[in-house]
Amino acid sequence: EDSASIAARIEALAANNRRIHEAECFNLNPATNVMNPRAEALLASGIGSRPSLGYPGDKYEMGLEAIEEIEVIAASLAAEVFEAKFAEIRVPSGAIANLYGFMATCKPGDTIIAPPASVGGHVTHHAGGCAGLYGLQIIEAPVDSDGYTVDLAGLADLARKERPKLITLGASLNLFEHPVREVRAIADEVGAKLLFDAAHQCGIIAGKAWRNPLAEGAHMMTMSTYKSLGGPAGGLIVSNDAALAERLDAIAFPGMTANFDAAKSAALAVTLLDWRAHGVAYAAQMVAVAQALAAALEAEGLPVFKGAQGATNSHQFAIAAAGFGGGQAASKTLRKAGFLACGIGLPIDPVAGDMNGLRIGTPELVRWGVTPDDAPRMAGLIAQALRSNDASALLPEVSAWRQGFDALHYIT
Ligand code: PLP
Repeated sequence: EDSASIAARIEALAANNRRIHEAECFNLNPATNVMNPRAEALLASGIGSRPSLGYPGDKYEMGLEAIEEIEVIAASLAAEVFEAKFAEIRVPSGAIANLYGFMATCKPGDTIIAPPASVGGHVTHHAGGCAGLYGLQIIEAPVDSDGYTVDLAGLADLARKERPKLITLGASLNLFEHPVREVRAIADEVGAKLLFDAAHQCGIIAGKAWRNPLAEGAHMMTMSTYKSLGGPAGGLIVSNDAALAERLDAIAFPGMTANFDAAKSAALAVTLLDWRAHGVAYAAQMVAVAQALAAALEAEGLPVFKGAQGATNSHQFAIAAAGFGGGQAASKTLRKAGFLACGIGLPIDPVAGDMNGLRIGTPELVRWGVTPDDAPRMAGLIAQALRSNDASALLPEVSAWRQGFDALHYIT
């Protein structure tokens, strides 16, 4: 195939991807969002391929005055939105944000305690991810199934025995606020730091629907910028600890980045302006739609995972997926009907060869204007699809409905 036709094919595939996400399907995956078009345009504005090595006011390359200003604005907006003293924006992804956090607090060979996959613990905190690749010894935190979080008494005992350098909280599914203050007390007792991974929760933390883990005592908070936050694919770390911030700065440069993508910083800055203006309303609506959808799915007879506080206080919840072949199998069925989702771990019986949960989240639904009033119809279609032998028969109805949601909400 000649180069011109490959290029044209890639352009057509990109357009097709937009059609799938913005016309054909409802996106129930909390790990994605749609960007503010002004932020998206900045990604293609021509600054992304310019080098930006060094600090604002002291760059190695010349002609970077404009980029320097963008970098300063983005970092100061990040600190403002997350009510933090320090914000590190030179972070390529949420995974690398966690690596920075590990490097700032641990040496290879040190021990960390992290939440296991049964409460949504992420691979970056585990042996197969950057924690393991950096040479850390990873010990799984004991689990409080009803709270979908760590078990405090068990964690305290484990921490006293293992003397970790770092304890992590925060996961790929977060249903109820994690006990940050209590875990910080345990960390203090054993001389550990506390990293809160807000890859998913950063949106509802920015929108004040959940308490800010930094204010509750976390030493660092790491994030993905493209999930609930709705920005470009990247990472971010905030902290109130000056010594840690100094280490994170040195890890970012000259440690793990030389030049970095200034277009992403520009897009992030515009994304953060949305949170400044609309964050409280957007976060509250994400939680309201999640709760309404969970209740409507339960009314349809689906096994919504519930803890002591109900199905969720977050923008995410889960369905026990054993009856649908597992979380990934259920997601493949839903895809045929025009709903995008994926599997997740739950602290219930495993499903052989698949995940035992199906994760559902609302960042993108709400951005397109879905409200709690839409929950019964959506739950009916999801339940029908999961129980159907021919889920694709529902696609015309789902897509026709989806196309009615064509304006973006909560953007500046
Ligand atoms: N941490 C958690 C809890 C996640 O769910 C993810 C998901 O991807 C990450 C970190 C990694 O983030 P990123 O995809 O931005 O590298």
